[in-house]
Amino acid sequence: MDLAHERYEELERAILAAHPHADAARIRAAFEYANEHHGPQLRKSGEPYIIHPIAVAEIVNELDLDGDSIVAALLHDCIEDTDSTHDEIARLFGSQVADLVEGVTKLTRMQYTSREDEQMENLRKMFMAMAKDVRVILIKLCDRLHNMRTLQYQSDLKQKEKALETMEVYAPIAHRLGMQKLKWELEDLSLEYLDPVGFRDVKDELTNITTLHAGFVDAMQSHIEERLAAEGVRCKVYGRLKHIYSIYRKMYSQGKTLNEIFDLYAFRVIVEDIPACYNVLGCIHDMFKPVLGRFKDYIGTPKPNGYQSLHTTVVGRDGIPFEVQIRTWQMHQTAEYGVAAHWKYKQGMANQRLGTERDFEWVRKLLESQQDTDPDEFVRTLRVDMFADEVFVFTPNGDVKSLPAGATPIDFAYSIHSAIGNSMTGARVNGRIVTFETPLKNGDIVEIITSKSAKGPSRDWMKICKSNEARNKIRQWFKKERREENIATGRAMFESELKHAGLSLGAITANPDLLEVLLKRVRCGQLDELYAAIGYGGLSAQKAAARIKEEMTRLGRVERQRAEQEAIQSAVSTGETVYPSTPKDSILAPKRSNSGIIVAGLDNCMVKFSKCCTPVPGDPVVGFITKGYGVSIHRQDCPNADPARRKPEEEGRWVKVAWAENAVGAEGYRTSIEISAKDRDGLALDVAMALSTVKVKVNHLSARSQPDGYAMIYLELAVRDQKELTGVIHKLSQIPGVFLVRRAGG
Ligand code: MN
Repeated sequence: MDLAHERYEELERAILAAHPHADAARIRAAFEYANEHHGPQLRKSGEPYIIHPIAVAEIVNELDLDGDSIVAALLHDCIEDTDSTHDEIARLFGSQVADLVEGVTKLTRMQYTSREDEQMENLRKMFMAMAKDVRVILIKLCDRLHNMRTLQYQSDLKQKEKALETMEVYAPIAHRLGMQKLKWELEDLSLEYLDPVGFRDVKDELTNITTLHAGFVDAMQSHIEERLAAEGVRCKVYGRLKHIYSIYRKMYSQGKTLNEIFDLYAFRVIVEDIPACYNVLGCIHDMFKPVLGRFKDYIGTPKPNGYQSLHTTVVGRDGIPFEVQIRTWQMHQTAEYGVAAHWKYKQGMANQRLGTERDFEWVRKLLESQQDTDPDEFVRTLRVDMFADEVFVFTPNGDVKSLPAGATPIDFAYSIHSAIGNSMTGARVNGRIVTFETPLKNGDIVEIITSKSAKGPSRDWMKICKSNEARNKIRQWFKKERREENIATGRAMFESELKHAGLSLGAITANPDLLEVLLKRVRCGQLDELYAAIGYGGLSAQKAAARIKEEMTRLGRVERQRAEQEAIQSAVSTGETVYPSTPKDSILAPKRSNSGIIVAGLDNCMVKFSKCCTPVPGDPVVGFITKGYGVSIHRQDCPNADPARRKPEEEGRWVKVAWAENAVGAEGYRTSIEISAKDRDGLALDVAMALSTVKVKVNHLSARSQPDGYAMIYLELAVRDQKELTGVIHKLSQIPGVFLVRRAGG
């Protein structure tokens, strides 16, 4: 008999020993099929390849998984490494097995090239999301365990790569699935390759200590066994050294010496039922002195992942402390095998439910509720519950990106950088050109084709993309790059919505008072801002129109009330009215004027622009009729023009004014700006430079350093209108260190 068959017979004996009714013929058929297909392939160790799947099936059997899992383990490399196919396996061994093998193959093909810490969580999530059936993960973990056990035959580079991947991806997954035993072995094997010196150190020190403690484990074990036997407790006692990586971590990350680590040794007492657990605890505490604060009752309060045990640390012979874990057999199963314990061999049961979405749901619940680790880890595990709504894809460099389910290449491009999205002209998925609408799948490698001459995103992209990130970035682009266009489209959209609501845009914009109130209602300073917001999609035209209508209705009521009030007042008042007051709600028809300002009811009267708020064309303004100096023009948001602060006896002097069509003076309008910035060398120079590039006339510039490291710069400019001023403000706010640019006064 050849080596392959010898090893197979061993496996079959082990399976039948655990499960006498196992379908041996089917398992043997799987072995023969795999043996034939792998044929003369050899592993790096020089052994026939088939030895590997047999070994993996052995580990799967040790986990006590079902028959399909064992069959799939034997076949797990067939699709990847031989000419076998999913369909053929499905025909011979059923679709369940074929799906398992294909699932394992997908995970095998996953590339873990990224070494970024923040990528690891995504990698782990992608790993789990890709496996529709948790058994796929379990088989893959067994596969990795055997590969780690035989890693010595690989090249140095391969060893380091595989070890890191195991430590970062596989061991944490085993941990999450509650599979302590597998996790420990994976961690120790990885550490041996990742830090051979550290591994050796700990191992050697452990050997020294255990030599020093010669016979400690055996002595304590039999001591406990004798006592419990005398008490009539039926139990099994195991003593062991803790695994190397857990000690290594405590020594290196917490800077402890081996002597400071309390629990080098761990004993397990496994009993039949819960009362026996507490009974044993009493005996242990009677035999040895307990270490204060180390007792934990995970039976009364199980860990969220279902882990149950009593933990205590006591001091044994020669003052050597050790930990004792007391649990029932059932608790032990869960602790050692975690999720796998729920997949007990179900031979002969036509269990349709096995490995279905509902089971996976259960695993998800388990992952969600795990909080036995540090808070960071907990937050991250919590996020795992979202992975049904997430898709994980690779960049060509192997970085993992997590995107919402159904995400498209557009989402991917913007998740890398807005510049990539904005200059995107095409996309490749797994090397093939795809359309922008193509939904991405877990594990896809996505590449974005960009061009310097790209025209930028189209508005349709906002409908195609799935992530808010992409949508916001596209919106930003339209906001910035297409301001003029946005204003034009926004205005058109707004006007048509208003028409629907029975309102006229012209009537609203021509009434500055009304306009100001309405703009406040939609949180915009200027009309252009409102149009632009609608144009780039930041505000829906429908919503804006609805708010305006609401406000108009409300104002209509307020207006009527005020009119009545005034009528009563003027009837009793004897105060003289020097100037004719303008009729309410009169709409100012824009015309020409020498000053650029039209005062309601007065033609070309004397006008001066107030110093407090220096209005410029485009600003909503209001006029105040002074005694002898004509009309003084304020911005509507100027504190001096605030209706709440106006003196009642002067109410009649406030008049409606508007900018004339020709309100663009040759010399421009004087206005002032204040800049707040972090003080630094050359700040004032940068400001002056910025002003000269926008070609604006500066009448005055003064800078003042504040004692706290900030600077205030005061500017007096002459600008054509508000649009130009907005441009200047924008330019100034881009100067490094500048955090606030605002108009003075107002
Ligand atoms: Mn394999």
